Amino acid sequence: MNIVVLGPPGVGKGTYTRVLSKKHGIPTISVGDLFRRAIKDETELGKKTKDYVSRGDLVPDEIVIDLVKNRLEEDDCKGGFILDGYPRTVPQAEAMMKFKKIDVALNFVAPDEVIMSRIGGRRTCRKCGAIYHIKNVPPTIEGVCDRCSGRLIQRADEKPEVIQNRLVVYREKTKPVSDYLRTKGLIADIDANYPIEEIDKIITQCEKYLTKIS
Ligand SMILES: [Zn+2]
Repeated sequence: MNIVVLGPPGVGKGTYTRVLSKKHGIPTISVGDLFRRAIKDETELGKKTKDYVSRGDLVPDEIVIDLVKNRLEEDDCKGGFILDGYPRTVPQAEAMMKFKKIDVALNFVAPDEVIMSRIGGRRTCRKCGAIYHIKNVPPTIEGVCDRCSGRLIQRADEKPEVIQNRLVVYREKTKPVSDYLRTKGLIADIDANYPIEEIDKIITQCEKYLTKIS
């Protein structure tokens, strides 16, 4: 099964795709990782990508499309894949319809305030990088890492006003993409408004759609 995942930052996509990947024995292809690998391996596409990334510019559609298309042609994707971070634009979505048959786009949805508290509550250890959450995964001593006693800080991009802005940008950018996929009948809306202990409720919704296609 060929799956695309959509959803705002902080909705928990990474966690859900890990579970689904394992369960179905198919790889998760993250476009962010593809960029990093291509740059590191200094492939032709990697060199082009690096130019844009180092200037802080968006990588043009034709480069992203080639990177993803090449990756999905590799052997491990023959039995299916979960694609994360693509398509981000309508031209990317249109290209995808031509080079790969997509069975479903799982669209994870949660209210802004839920996402705000998920990301806004995160604290990262300055020393070892361990991640906590003030409510869900609190350290034993407030502000101190359990593992290394390092100080816990809130990352700049996890502050409330920044998250709010990231959500606005996400919505503006991806609305046309989800609208496009919806007209193709590919969108499956998944209610992700459950605490992490109840992740089963989210996975069950996904499986409902996945059993239809397999
Ligand atoms: Zn630490």
